[in-house]
Amino acid sequence: MAVIIDGKAVSDRIKSEIALENKKLMDDIGVMPGLAVIIVGNDSASKIYVSNKIKACEKVGFYSEKIQLSEKISQKELVARIEELNNRVDIDGILVQLPLPKHISEKVVLGKIDPRKDVDCFSPFNVGRITINDYRFLPCTPAGVMELLKETGVELAGKNCVVIGRSNIVGKPMAMMLINESATVTVCHSKTVNLPEITSKADILISAVGKPKFVTADMVKDGAIVIDVGINHDENGKLCGDVDFNAVEPKAGYITPVPGGVGPMTIAMLMKNTIMAAKANAILNVKSAGKTKAAKSKSDK
Ligand code: NDP
Repeated sequence: MAVIIDGKAVSDRIKSEIALENKKLMDDIGVMPGLAVIIVGNDSASKIYVSNKIKACEKVGFYSEKIQLSEKISQKELVARIEELNNRVDIDGILVQLPLPKHISEKVVLGKIDPRKDVDCFSPFNVGRITINDYRFLPCTPAGVMELLKETGVELAGKNCVVIGRSNIVGKPMAMMLINESATVTVCHSKTVNLPEITSKADILISAVGKPKFVTADMVKDGAIVIDVGINHDENGKLCGDVDFNAVEPKAGYITPVPGGVGPMTIAMLMKNTIMAAKANAILNVKSAGKTKAAKSKSDK
């Protein structure tokens, strides 16, 4: 029987710590972190994700702003809204809920977010910094997985880790973060040949595919740590992950459930990135205010 890693409990604990840190930030320097969440169109799943992010901000005591835009908005107009937010001192984090309508390039839009406010950590600049292990932010979902791995107390260095999925937002940054912790990492995808042979050697198996019951018991090594990133619906419309939980759980050493595993961690990590951005921006704002003052006093002379 596996130990179930309770992502909801870990996420609640991290959010409570952030709420305390936030209170201290307000008391010490009068800074309240601010997060702007842009949603384009009326996708129902996106609306739920955005509302959960706004609720989390309320819980930890951040200022938040939901910006609902029409599905017909042009790319130029959307970029202009982002540039406005880049210039606002009360906004520390900017998040554009994906997916965007087809006529808008996600690459262009995400690239316009000021890297200092890119709390989703999707911009090429911030992703590049993970590659060189010198980063400010980490993308929320893989960062949440790292926190859950930490909960097991298992040393990552030297472990054989297999990540299924190579998306820019989960699989690839996940692999980089594990490499940064000195794990030996294999990344699998839809063209991988003989997947079960590879996964069944994994000490740590992370699935980010998006298919229910994709990871079966024969794909898992006895005692492995199994992390399920997938968010799917089963044949009865019930929320489930990628892992066939009932079959895999007796074989695994640790396992995350869906719901209640990686999902809640993603939002906790967003809150963490937002308070980090607020602290860094506060220092920057003080510095630039100092420069403005200095420039003004020079010109007064
Ligand atoms: P993508 O669709 O972008 O990527 C899926 C990956 O799975 C691709 O790399 C694809 O390979 C691979 N894949 C598909 N079929 C197979 C197969 N038969 N064998 C091996 N690999 C396969 O999805 P995301 O990375 O965005 O998300 C993955 C899952 O995680 C989804 O269920 C999503 O909802 C969930 N998710 C959950 C989050 C959370 O907060 N818990 C946050 C983000 C995502 P290829 O590249 O070759 O196509």
